[in-house]
Amino acid sequence: MQFIDTHCHIHDSEFSKKYAQSVEDIIKNAKNVGINKYICVGTSAVSSKQAVEFSNKYSGAYASLALHPHEISDIGAEKCNTEFLKLEPLIKASNKKIIAIGECGLDYFYHPQTDVQQAQQVLFRSHIDLALKYDLPLIFHIRDAFDDFFKILDEYNLKGLKVKGVVHSFSAHMPQLVGCLDRGLYIGLNGIMTFTRDQLQLDAAKAVPLDKLLLETDAPFLTPKPFRGMMCELKHVVNTAEFLSNLRNESLNKISEFTSTNAINLFSL
Ligand SMILES: [Zn+2]
Repeated sequence: MQFIDTHCHIHDSEFSKKYAQSVEDIIKNAKNVGINKYICVGTSAVSSKQAVEFSNKYSGAYASLALHPHEISDIGAEKCNTEFLKLEPLIKASNKKIIAIGECGLDYFYHPQTDVQQAQQVLFRSHIDLALKYDLPLIFHIRDAFDDFFKILDEYNLKGLKVKGVVHSFSAHMPQLVGCLDRGLYIGLNGIMTFTRDQLQLDAAKAVPLDKLLLETDAPFLTPKPFRGMMCELKHVVNTAEFLSNLRNESLNKISEFTSTNAINLFSL
């Protein structure tokens, strides 16, 4: 059985140095349980560049580039503009290992201030424009901001510009799920599902059509049960898959097949 981790940050030096084991060991552990492909997701210009370098070094690694919406408050909107401009040259210089733009989007959970939210929207649109220019799918980070997210996507879709991608770390409820599916998006589920106490999140996770489901770890974050308290690594994607297999009453084999095919199709892996 194979699994694809569509969202991790093990390439990021800020996190990789915190693991007790080497990156090579993390990759080897993953291979032992059938994970041969994984997407290293950028959150800043620096970590996006590191994702590209990592994907050039390790055959199973792929890179996604973006500034996380948190960057607006972390470094300021103006600095975000100049940092964002560093992404396109990476794409131009790249081989085929850059397969997506993300994680980008809107996070109103941590940022209730209107000016920050507006700046996030501007930065988010820049990412969508970049993805459309290079015909790449997007990896969306959306938290407490689905109304504005859908509004922005619909503006593009109305112009006939087809925005494709995955809502990563989906942990919202049925209305938001329906909104994502109506717009043809994939849904990325991770360790949150194994420890959430929100039944409505689980109801939505059950309702994701198999042909729209993707697996991810968000490593080093969101370690699934029963390994809470440990650093999350690629191999833990299997624990989330097993949990979903029970929750959804589908064989692990079926989850493996569909989620792998979906990842290969969306990201052209
Ligand atoms: Zn992430």
